[in-house]
Amino acid sequence: MADGDSASHAAFQAASEVTAERLLDSPAHEQARVLRTGAVSARALAEAALARVRAQEPALHAYITLTPDEALAQADAADAQLRRGDATPLTGIPIAVKDLLSTRDVETTAGSAMLRGFRPIVDCTVVARLRAAGAVMVGKANLDEFAMGSSTEYSAYGPTHNPWDLGRVPGGSSGGSAATVAAGGVPLALGTDTGGSIRQPAALCGILGLKPTYGRVSRFGVVAFASSLEQVGPFGRDAEDVALLLAAIAGHDPLDATTAPLPVPDYVAELGRGVEGLRIGVPRELLGEGIEPGVREAVEGALAEFARLGAHLDRDVSLPSVGASLPVYYLIAPSEASANLARYDGVKYGFSAHDGPGMWDDMEQTRARGFGDEVKRRIMIGTYALSTGYYDAYYLKAQKVRTLIRREFEQALATHDLLLTPTTPGVAFKLGEKLGDPLAMYLSDLFTLPVNIAGLPAASIPCGFAEGLPVGLQLIGRAFEEGTILRAAHAYAGVTDWHLRRPSALAAGGVRA
Ligand code: GLN
Repeated sequence: MADGDSASHAAFQAASEVTAERLLDSPAHEQARVLRTGAVSARALAEAALARVRAQEPALHAYITLTPDEALAQADAADAQLRRGDATPLTGIPIAVKDLLSTRDVETTAGSAMLRGFRPIVDCTVVARLRAAGAVMVGKANLDEFAMGSSTEYSAYGPTHNPWDLGRVPGGSSGGSAATVAAGGVPLALGTDTGGSIRQPAALCGILGLKPTYGRVSRFGVVAFASSLEQVGPFGRDAEDVALLLAAIAGHDPLDATTAPLPVPDYVAELGRGVEGLRIGVPRELLGEGIEPGVREAVEGALAEFARLGAHLDRDVSLPSVGASLPVYYLIAPSEASANLARYDGVKYGFSAHDGPGMWDDMEQTRARGFGDEVKRRIMIGTYALSTGYYDAYYLKAQKVRTLIRREFEQALATHDLLLTPTTPGVAFKLGEKLGDPLAMYLSDLFTLPVNIAGLPAASIPCGFAEGLPVGLQLIGRAFEEGTILRAAHAYAGVTDWHLRRPSALAAGGVRA
C-alpha cells in the first residue's frame, strides 16, 4: 500500500473506530451491509474483533492460535474487494475456525500435543472457499483433542470457559468456536460435528449451530476423526448468518468423493417462508426420561410456539431403535478413529519422540506422549472392535443397527418435514464435573448422536433458559433440506427473543471493554 493510502486509511480508521466496535455486536449480514456503505472498513472491523477477542481470552480461552497478521492482510484485501464492488456476503466478516481445519502455513493442532507446531501446506476446502469469499479469519478455535469430547476440557491446550458462566464448560468438541461467537468476539465460526460437536456447544452457549447433511460440505483437509459421521458446519447468532456461511462452504468438491454433486440452494431466499402447514414430529424416545426439568419446560414452550405459528405438531412419532445410538456410535466412531489416527507415528506429522533404542520404541513413545487419555481410550476400543473374532460381534453388528436407525428416521421424515427434540439433556455443566466419568460425558450427546448415525442435517437453536443458562432446541430435517431447518429457525426467532440475549459474565468480570 502506498504511503498516502495508508495515511488516509489511518484517518478513516480513527474516525470509524467506535462504530466498528459497536458493529461487532450486529449479525454478520448487518456488518456486511455497513461495510458496503463504506461507513466502517473491513480493517477497522477486524481490529475491533481482534481487540475484543484479546480482551476476552484471559477469561474465555476460546482460541489456540490468534492470527492477527493474516486477519489484517485479509481485511485489507476485503477493503479492496469492497471498493471494486465485487464483494460477497462474507467479504470483510471476522470469523473463527475450529483448529481441526487445515490452514496453509498456520499452525493446526487438532487440540493435540501430537500436532503442536504442525503447519499444513494447503488450506482445507472450506477455508479456501472462505478466503475466496473475502472472509477474515481471526484465529483457530479451541477444541477437544481430535474432536473427541463434549466439553473442550480434553484440549491439550487447556479448557475453554462458557461466557454465560465462566465456571462452566462451553460444550464440545467445538467449544472455542461456540464460546467466541456467544461472547461477541466474532459473528461467525466454523466447527465440525461427528456426534454433536456443533449442536451441543451451540445449545450450551445459546447460539445457532448447524450440522449439514453428510456429503453437503467438503471434508478435504479436515483432520479426520470418524470419516463416515462428521461434517463441517456454521455457528452464528441468527438463521440468516448461518444460511450465508453454509452457502459459502457447501457444495461438491472434486477433492472429496463423499460430497454430493447437488446444487446449493439459496438458503437466504427461503428464510421468509414461515412454518405454516409444516408437519413437525416429536419423537417420543427423545423426549423421555433423563431430561432436566428446566430443559423440558423450555422445549415444551418452543413446541407450543411452533404450533401457534401454524405448524402441525405430531407427538405420535417413534424411532424404536434410537435408544441403541450411544453404543452404535461408540463402536463406529472409535473404530474409524483407530484407523484414522494410525498415521501419527512420529514420522509424517508433528510430534516425534527420539529417545528410544530403536524405531519401534520411538513410535511407541510418540503415541504414548503425543495422545491424551481420551484419544487413547478411543483407539483401544476401536482396535478391539475391529480385531479378528470381535469384528462381527461388535463392528458389523453396530453397522447393522446403524442401518435400522437410518431407516426409522427416513420413515419418520417421509411424513414429517422436521423432527424436534431437546439438543441436550441438561444445561452447561461445571468444569471438571464429568472429567472423571467418561460415560457421563458421552451422555451429553444422547440426542445429537442419532442424527450423525443417520447422516441427516440438524441445527440447535436457542429456545430459553434454565437456571440462568441457555437451552437448545434441535431441529432435524430431511437429507439435503437444510433450508427447511433454517426457515423454521428464522420463523421462531421472529416471535421470540432468546437469540438476542447476551451473556453478562464477561462484562461483570470487567474483562470486556
Ligand atoms: N462428544 C462426541 C464424541 O466425543 C461427539 C464429538 C464430535 O461430534 N466431534 O465423540
